[in-house]
Amino acid sequence: MAVPLMQAVRVGAYVVKQHITGRKRYPLVLMLEPLFRCNLACAGCGKIDYPAAILNQRLSMQECLDADAEAGAPVIAIAGGEPLLHKEMPQITRALIERKKYVYLCTNALLLEKKMDDYEPSPFFSWDVHLDGDREMHDASVCQDGVYERAVAAIKKAKARGFRISINCTLFDGADPKRVASFFDEVMAMDVDGIMTAPGYAYERAPDQEHFLNRQKTKQLFRDIFRLGKGHKWRFTQSPLFLNFLAGNETYHCTPWGKPLRNVFGWQRPCYLLGEGYAKSFDELMNDTKWDDYGTGNYEKCADCMVHSGYESTAVMDAVRRPWHIAKVALFGPETEKPMAPEISLANQRPAQYVYAEQVEEQMQEISARKKPARMPRVTTVVSASADQNSAVPADAAD
Ligand code: SF4
Repeated sequence: MAVPLMQAVRVGAYVVKQHITGRKRYPLVLMLEPLFRCNLACAGCGKIDYPAAILNQRLSMQECLDADAEAGAPVIAIAGGEPLLHKEMPQITRALIERKKYVYLCTNALLLEKKMDDYEPSPFFSWDVHLDGDREMHDASVCQDGVYERAVAAIKKAKARGFRISINCTLFDGADPKRVASFFDEVMAMDVDGIMTAPGYAYERAPDQEHFLNRQKTKQLFRDIFRLGKGHKWRFTQSPLFLNFLAGNETYHCTPWGKPLRNVFGWQRPCYLLGEGYAKSFDELMNDTKWDDYGTGNYEKCADCMVHSGYESTAVMDAVRRPWHIAKVALFGPETEKPMAPEISLANQRPAQYVYAEQVEEQMQEISARKKPARMPRVTTVVSASADQNSAVPADAAD
């Protein structure tokens, strides 16, 4: 199984409990982004285009644990940036596992072989390795030759050490269904535990703006891939109904609060992909965000989005409402021949707002304020040193 049985049971029990208790909005996966800094600069990435002072910010271990305590989600995905650049990552991961959280540690795998011994295999832990297709596809996607080879070597070593591994495959316009299908065969042959796949989100700050898929192309691409995959026994870490959605068989509306994101700016509104503002606490995020302003049909920046950040939680909730439906899709796979489900109208979506420059300015001011030495009485040099430590940027800021 792509997801261990106990994990499926615990997450299922959590979802059913939320429904029984009538909780309207709840998180399924806590997304933690403890840093933006990365050791790659991928063409489709919209996460790393920040000034160095922001890239040097880190969430501390305590901030990560506090975010978990606030959200209470059963699954935690640690993304970035490259999380393995964070000095406290082994301790953060261990502490979350001790809390019996299912942790997916996302990585481009460049540091995986070097850092692997800092982690222990566990049913609660999985490496989630970024691989956007075969050697040529992936190296083109990450804009650097040799990355695929290093990632595959690290995957094989991690499997030999007993770790669980999933791969995270983002697809862009121009992807060839046959090559993607062969790539899925290839990773299954590596004994990878599961595949997570989605179309790339059209980040406004990504260097390459020409290769993002629109919804129609996304649906056709995934239909073509799944048609080729019939009988191939690919294991996906995602809900069968999310895959059915990718193949154009579900008219799902976005559930952005299902995968809330905590990063160095705070709790991001409304989702992992879009940073349109930040809340100081999880409760503030859940209660004060205008959720109806977002999602396909509501907002221009959401028009082409079909990413798991917003739609996998919708699929999971649909499975609770229609268990017979998920059973059928799980058994026979996504439909690839019948007419597609109706698309959401974009007629009433509100226009995009561009807030990046304002947010960067705000963060730079905060960082600068934290760096300023506090004004202290001249006679108390000892007190002055202590106050200065308290206002300093975290010690691992330059790692
Ligand atoms: S559709 Fe949902 S997940 Fe996608 S960008 Fe909009 S709010 Fe985020």
